[in-house]
Amino acid sequence: MGSLKDLLHQHVREGDLYEKMDRGFVRCFACGHCCPIPDGQVGVCKVRFNEGGKLYVPWGYVGGVQCDPIEKKPFFHAYPGALAYSFGMLGCDLHCSYCQNWVTSQAIRDPNAVAPPLAATPQALVQDALGQGARVLVSTYNEPLITSEWAVAVFKEARAAGLSTGFVSNGNGTPQVLEYLRSWIDLYKVDLKSFDDRHYRELGGRIGPILETIRRLHQMGFWLEIVTLVIPGFNDSPDELARLADFLAGVSPDIPWHITAFHKDYKMTDPDDTSPETLLRAAEIGRRAGLRFIYAGNLPGQVGDLENTRCPKCRELLIERYGYLITSYKLTSNGFCPACGTAVPGRWAPSFQGQITAYPFLPRLHRRSKLVSIA
Ligand code: SF4
Repeated sequence: MGSLKDLLHQHVREGDLYEKMDRGFVRCFACGHCCPIPDGQVGVCKVRFNEGGKLYVPWGYVGGVQCDPIEKKPFFHAYPGALAYSFGMLGCDLHCSYCQNWVTSQAIRDPNAVAPPLAATPQALVQDALGQGARVLVSTYNEPLITSEWAVAVFKEARAAGLSTGFVSNGNGTPQVLEYLRSWIDLYKVDLKSFDDRHYRELGGRIGPILETIRRLHQMGFWLEIVTLVIPGFNDSPDELARLADFLAGVSPDIPWHITAFHKDYKMTDPDDTSPETLLRAAEIGRRAGLRFIYAGNLPGQVGDLENTRCPKCRELLIERYGYLITSYKLTSNGFCPACGTAVPGRWAPSFQGQITAYPFLPRLHRRSKLVSIA
């Protein structure tokens, strides 16, 4: 059997997001690196490569599938209680030492990150999602921007079946990839990891393309939520959090900001786990910046009111949560406060459908091994 890299290089098709350059080079536009790639070489993500002056991109497999409550993604202002069917491929354009999806994201770079890929078709994934009762299909686990062509193929099938679609992404995009995705994605979560370019360079990126992507996503009408994993000693200084929150509020005070607690993972085992007090302090910074929807995650029951959605005008409790579990839901049809009639921004179902599950689980397709390893 060949290496994982060799195997993945057999599961490709020609990409859409690139241009040909002189001397057999191609330039890829799928992420903010915009790699110029010589013939016979791979891009920074190691899954897109130039062969004979054409860019080849991942196709026809998944690194994993799972059904999650949509609150886990996290989307708090999109179809609360819905089931999100998540799929991912392999590889990433960054290499964060604290990655919580490292088994799939770092599969090509790190020999310890073993996630055997499974052969898949868009039809099989959508049929399985429907069979589980999913309302939304989400590309996640690896960085979905670098596998945008495959995501769009799956999302076309999903839309035809009446499902909504989403990306869970690091936000390192380009104008070209956002235009490419615009017609096929409803929900977009960006993991804004820091507000310091030096920190982003440690992770293998730059902050500029990420901030520009956040502005564009909002302008282009994607439903956008932002997550910041607060890591003690890395990004939790009051100054950095204040600049980050000011930036978000400047794009729109209606963007939900999820501040989530770090726990030791992958290669980052030095900092302490994030305390509830640190999240409460970050939330206060967000409130002072003018953000209207701030949520604290990963510490259920320890962050006071910061798991709940309140009306931004009269403070009526609209959606009450414990972790991923919705314990009460009072929004009127299509997302209005029942007390004062204020519209709450988001993507709401005409009525609350209840919650299928507050826990992630493996879908039937995977359990019954209809997805077979490509190894
Ligand atoms: S997806 Fe990003 S890292 Fe990968 S080849 Fe394209 S520009 Fe480079």
